[in-house]
Amino acid sequence: MGKVIAIANQKGGVGKTTTSVNLGACLAYIGKRVLLVDVDPQGNATSGTGIDKAEVERCIYDILVDDVNVKEVIKQTEIENLEIIPATIQLAGAEIELVPTISREVRLKRALEMIRNEYDYVIIDCPPSLGLLTINALTASDTVLIPVQCEYYALEGLSQLLNTVRLVQKHLNIDLMIEGVLLTMLDARTNLGIQVIDEVKKYFQDKVYKTIIPRNIRLSEAPSHGKPIIIYDPRSKGAEMYLDLAKEVVVNG
Ligand code: ADP
Ligand code: MG
Repeated sequence: MGKVIAIANQKGGVGKTTTSVNLGACLAYIGKRVLLVDVDPQGNATSGTGIDKAEVERCIYDILVDDVNVKEVIKQTEIENLEIIPATIQLAGAEIELVPTISREVRLKRALEMIRNEYDYVIIDCPPSLGLLTINALTASDTVLIPVQCEYYALEGLSQLLNTVRLVQKHLNIDLMIEGVLLTMLDARTNLGIQVIDEVKKYFQDKVYKTIIPRNIRLSEAPSHGKPIIIYDPRSKGAEMYLDLAKEVVVNG
């Protein structure tokens, strides 16, 4: 049965989407069947895998709000083994529109149950909030992968995230586990990065991935070309490290 991993952190700009797209693409590259689920109204994972949002007819909104069959929404990307449930700005309304609906927290879970067997990994890119969209993602997932940017205040807000994880475990998804904590955007030239690594390891211990993602200009360029790094520049440091992460995720089971 496919493993469902939510990539979550309510802070914006920590590398959630970069990790969703590139972990997804690297898992596909090593032969896994991967479904990427874009649950952020900004739709950056959608455009980052080469899907033109203007041409998307049905998106995750239709699944969550209008009960449209997932199979009618899934799109093949340009990358072999990598499919996506896209998001468009239409999703921005869902957070509010879902509030008065029945089983509002389990809609994504129900939808993915029908198709998760067809994949080895389902990767969910969460929005930068702890609202109903992220709750849907955590409820639908086996594990949550938390990207943490190697910056001042790296741990800030994480207790809130962990609290949300505990609430979801208690009320909605008793089996939810922490997949791992990923340090991102490390600038190896500064001492700050090293300090943050120490601090995060003290807090999360063996949950921290050995692979640390460096700040890499090619990683920031790739989305504007609609390509994951493994396609855009397979020889870059960014590609190498996301491939390492994919292997670590596979080994961890
Ligand atoms: P989030 O989804 O958490 O908001 P993103 O993945 O969109 O964060 O990353 C925020 C910005 O930082 C984007 O412009 C992205 O291209 C850039 N970025 C992410 N990771 C790296 C990295 N390792 N090196 C350089 N730029 C990065
Ligand atoms: Mg994002």
